[in-house]
Amino acid sequence: MASKDPFSLNLDCIHCGLCLSHCPTYQLLGSETDSPRGRIYLMKAARQGRIELDDKAVSHLDGCLACRACESACPSGVRYEWMLAQTRSRIRQQDPGHWLLRAAMRQLLPFPRRVRALARLTRIYQRLGLQSLLRRSGLLGALSRGLAEAEGKLPALPRPRRLRQLYPAYGERKFRVGFLTGCVMPVLFPQTHAASIEVLRRSGCEVAVPARQSCCGALHWHDGRSNQAKQLARQLCRSFEGQGLDAVVVNSAGCGAAMKDYGHWLQDDPDQRHQAQAFSRKVEDLCEFLVRINPPWQLAPLQIRLAYDDACHLLHGQNISSQPRRLLKRIPGLELLNLPNSDRCCGAAGIYNLLQPALSNQLTDWKCKEILSCSPERVATANPGCMMQIRAGLRSTGISLPVQHPVEILHESLERASAADLKTK
Ligand code: SF4
Ligand code: SF4
Repeated sequence: MASKDPFSLNLDCIHCGLCLSHCPTYQLLGSETDSPRGRIYLMKAARQGRIELDDKAVSHLDGCLACRACESACPSGVRYEWMLAQTRSRIRQQDPGHWLLRAAMRQLLPFPRRVRALARLTRIYQRLGLQSLLRRSGLLGALSRGLAEAEGKLPALPRPRRLRQLYPAYGERKFRVGFLTGCVMPVLFPQTHAASIEVLRRSGCEVAVPARQSCCGALHWHDGRSNQAKQLARQLCRSFEGQGLDAVVVNSAGCGAAMKDYGHWLQDDPDQRHQAQAFSRKVEDLCEFLVRINPPWQLAPLQIRLAYDDACHLLHGQNISSQPRRLLKRIPGLELLNLPNSDRCCGAAGIYNLLQPALSNQLTDWKCKEILSCSPERVATANPGCMMQIRAGLRSTGISLPVQHPVEILHESLERASAADLKTK
């Protein structure tokens, strides 16, 4: 992890341009100012006071997905995302953004109870059929285009499942792990959490789910709301303190990438720096953790043609690419397809799909075409935003394919194997 001013790392940018062809916005727009190299130049010039962060400069920087594909491609180790977060923090001081976004970041996401209450209202609204009425009225679009986009992508919300604070391991306990619930996963993807906990228990893990968890702050960080993000990071570290954990396991790529970076976020905080570094060292993505402990599972065959898409914050943010594939390949009968450009962003990118809907939708169209080109029966990806984005993108083409977290597929195979085992006994 870099300890010197990340802007001095600009000097390591040798302007080679190797990152350009990996940058989705450069692929879309073809202009240098919408490429990593161009954006680095803008950020550096603004930092040195040579240019103002005016509307034009901001539009190029806000057009960045923060997907970090440029970091993976860069031979000089330029920490692009860190520079972007610092620059966006300056931009937010000039312009705090749309009032709805501000309200959601400050008053909603950090409070799980409020998120649950909003989800309850949304379920009622969906069940009463008010969705199509509201869509026809155009009211949401008048309030904010991003809000209308978000509403259009929202899946039918499932029934909530309350998580307990402790789940014992099945059989001998080999590990004790903490489990991140996150802000929106419990209401949007409760089945992913349930599958994750079950797979961990079947892998010899006792699973602790601290009750007073907050949002991880990833969305705040990427939007330049760094003070709020740091505050949330401090709270989350505290909620996992003193639990005697072997690992803190995360099934959301965006949250995991952020939590692995807390030591870096809080490097200037003398009271929290060491605690945050220790916490970050314990954080593991669920697939990464499962491959490391390599449980001796009995897996039942699943005859599925599956396309796996790399979530940017798993691949570029955590350098995790082989682990989900290795887990899926353990399932007999499962055919893992070769998805073209699986390393290119699907357009979700945190709240990018709300703030830049036109560019985001173009990327989603590309992604869906690539998915459909290999004729899968299901799609897997390890991030809730990507699951929602791809599902909505496929739906808009008139095709409805299951889009799941890899752990849900693993869980299905484990469940079938244990049901078959019970029958033979
Ligand atoms: S983070 Fe992604 S969109 Fe932004 S400059 Fe890098 S590759 Fe391009
Ligand atoms: S690959 Fe790295 S060194 Fe080359 S232009 Fe991009 S950021 Fe600069």
